[in-house]
Amino acid sequence: MIYTDTRDSSVKVDFKTAVLNGMNSKTGGLYIPVDFPRLSDSILKNPNEPSFRSVALEMAKPYCEGEIPDADLDAIIQDAYPFISKLNQVDPITYVLELFHGPTCAFKDFGARFMARVMSYFNRENKDNLHILVATSGDTGSAVGSAFHNVPGIDVTILYPEGKISPLQEKQLSTFTGNVRALKVNGTFDDCQRLVKTAFTDAELRNKFRLSSANSINISRLLPQGFYYMYASLLAKSKSWVSNKLEDPAIIVTVPSGNFGNLTSGLIAKKMGAPITGFVAATNSNRTIPDWIATGKYDARPSVETYANAMDVGAPSNYERIAAMYSLEEVRDLFASYWLDNDGIIESIKDCNKKTGYIIDPHGAVAWKAWDDIRNGKLEEIMNGAKFDYTKPGLTTNVPSWAKEVVNKNAVGIILETADPAKFGATVKQAIGRAPVIPERLQKVMQLEDRAIPMQNDYNQFKDWLMANL
Ligand SMILES: *Cc1c(COP(=O)(O)O)cnc(C)c1O
Repeated sequence: MIYTDTRDSSVKVDFKTAVLNGMNSKTGGLYIPVDFPRLSDSILKNPNEPSFRSVALEMAKPYCEGEIPDADLDAIIQDAYPFISKLNQVDPITYVLELFHGPTCAFKDFGARFMARVMSYFNRENKDNLHILVATSGDTGSAVGSAFHNVPGIDVTILYPEGKISPLQEKQLSTFTGNVRALKVNGTFDDCQRLVKTAFTDAELRNKFRLSSANSINISRLLPQGFYYMYASLLAKSKSWVSNKLEDPAIIVTVPSGNFGNLTSGLIAKKMGAPITGFVAATNSNRTIPDWIATGKYDARPSVETYANAMDVGAPSNYERIAAMYSLEEVRDLFASYWLDNDGIIESIKDCNKKTGYIIDPHGAVAWKAWDDIRNGKLEEIMNGAKFDYTKPGLTTNVPSWAKEVVNKNAVGIILETADPAKFGATVKQAIGRAPVIPERLQKVMQLEDRAIPMQNDYNQFKDWLMANL
């Protein structure tokens, strides 16, 4: 596969280069495959339930062709995914796709574990260490740290905004030993991301060290996230007559979004033939993308803190990929978009639990409320001419091409549940009066010693630290 650059379409690199560079330091652009080959009909038209790992292998093959032989790729996938996603039906037309069954209890394990194995594969003949720098708004750090922990030839430096992630999230990323360390930055997630991006464009650092990124700007994290969109949409299709009493429903996937890596992966899966009719781009009060869809103007801004903190991103980096893949008009056709403030998040956790018995986390709650509003008439109001104020929580007033399917009751919703609710026990308890059960792998991490290193929000200090410690 050839990969090009969102800012310069004359760029052509192979998978290895795209993965190890993370981003193109010359242009500041992001790598993107030139093509998203459709899976064969033997998979897409198979009426039986799909297998996650077979779907994953078939999806990964074209992106690694000529660089990772199929047998090695299969081994990478088997090793990365001892767990899979679970499609959980919560009412006649709604599924919650649980993406938190990996080691760190959030969806980022899907991307990080594939990326770690691919990087280690490409790095296997190198004598110098590969240094991964990663900024995290909460869950990336632990997923990446866990995925790379004890991988030979690679070390990881995690930057996180001090005091702006949950205590449990902080434990999960600050307690690694050996090749993974964490810096607690006196600033926001966007500050952390800027420090990392600046380091990548710093010629002096790049000449001295082999640096790579592990944020969702890295294409090897995005591609594997497409696996569960393909798997879940094929699975929902195969069950729709029995589970939803619908012959051939439109499948609408609602994605709680921050940096928009997850949603971009959904777009990739759709291009590869996943039976997904449309998406709902759902955010918390960091509503840069809904505002873009509403107004046509992309206006990145500082992030604000919310209960769904892994989505506290004011300048979503994958906007650049979405805009490279689709025009604004196509985006308005394909996406409904929605945002929810903190009060809405609490209400939504409560509402979801009351209507279905399901305990949803604050991120999934954003998606639940978006889908619940859509199927309960909000989209129909827009089709009938209602104009909503995009500066207030709710839907933006574009009419996606699939709106009719929802109004005609021929749509099924898949809500992505991106984290185990136990990671946000206090918020869940505030909403429903009790905290979720904490899985054993989270209980264990709470006992470990905190090893994070304090860091000012200052590039020179960060660079000095890197020079002295890499
Ligand atoms: C990272 C994260 C998100 C946002 O995903 P993006 O790919 O950045 O849009 C949502 N929920 C949880 C729990 C996360 O960790």
